[in-house]
Amino acid sequence: MSVNYRKAAVIGCGFVGASIAFRFLQQGLFSHLVLVDANREKAEGEAMDLSDGLPYGASMEITAGTYNDVAGCGLVVVTAGVNQKPGETRLELIGRNAAILKSILHEITSRKFEGILLIVSNPVDVLTYLSKELSGYPRERVIGSGTVLDTARLKQLLGEELGVDSRNVHAFIVGEHGDSELAVWSGANVSGLDLQDFCRLRGKALNPQDMDRLYREVQGSADAIIRRKGATYYGIAMAVGRIAECIVKDEHAVLPVSAVLEGEYGLEKLALSVPAIVGKNGLEKILEIPLSQTERTALDSSAQQMQQAIQQVSSDLAQA
Ligand code: NAD
Repeated sequence: MSVNYRKAAVIGCGFVGASIAFRFLQQGLFSHLVLVDANREKAEGEAMDLSDGLPYGASMEITAGTYNDVAGCGLVVVTAGVNQKPGETRLELIGRNAAILKSILHEITSRKFEGILLIVSNPVDVLTYLSKELSGYPRERVIGSGTVLDTARLKQLLGEELGVDSRNVHAFIVGEHGDSELAVWSGANVSGLDLQDFCRLRGKALNPQDMDRLYREVQGSADAIIRRKGATYYGIAMAVGRIAECIVKDEHAVLPVSAVLEGEYGLEKLALSVPAIVGKNGLEKILEIPLSQTERTALDSSAQQMQQAIQQVSSDLAQA
């Protein structure tokens, strides 16, 4: 069966999956979107509700489906799983979500699926690595949403701080999508202007304390939202929409997706977010960007935490 890049599936239609489906409708990227959920009625209800908006949106079909509909899809987005409670870390979800992921991968790999698998469920880096290992797909076809969302949060906060459009801010959050993530300040710029040069021109000051405050706001963003409204979903829906757009339009765009490293940055046997080129084949190339010594140390420490989590969950899954 050939791959239809205009057909996508979302597995898990809770807050995140339904918001991603809504974003896909707005983007008009796909001609057919299939919604799959363990709760079939939830998928049906979401498909019906979303379809009501089609006359004012895109020309596409949105249906509730089964894993049989995943065959032939160009993109499958996995959002099934439990979400964090206030104060809970993403890594604490690992046991429950790894078991759910394993059952979903069993369904997908037993069908003829040759498209891109995009993991969103948390802890996203560990689940991206497990997805690649359990599916046997090449790493190009298995990516995680990674720190695309966290990077958007940093751009937005920096844009506000400096009084400039956040789309002109170029700065990455890399590492774990979680507590050990880090900001790559050494390469941050505003439309090509070094951050400090831009601050001078804009009449603003950005000292190390300000940078630390912004980083901590990014790092604590999900928890701050979850404490107020119980879940996060619009930001991630925009981030996934952007990744999907890069794939469908074969953009070769640079995004900090989560990917399995095979020696890049001297790391392997884990998935982490680092800037990469994304196009219709998924992961095209991981970019080894320059890092300061402090950033390099923080990336290594983040990688170490991911490797420990992977080891733990792999032995739990083997015993299950
Ligand atoms: P939710 O509880 O609202 O929805 C989860 C959905 O998954 C439910 O509809 C449930 O029925 C379904 N589900 C459970 N097991 C399933 C299975 N085996 N097969 C198919 N469907 C199944 O949760 P949510 O708020 O939508 O969050 C979903 C996941 O996304 C969580 O793991 C959360 O941490 C993660 N998330 C990731 C990011 C990110 O940046 N990567 C951001 C926000 C949330």
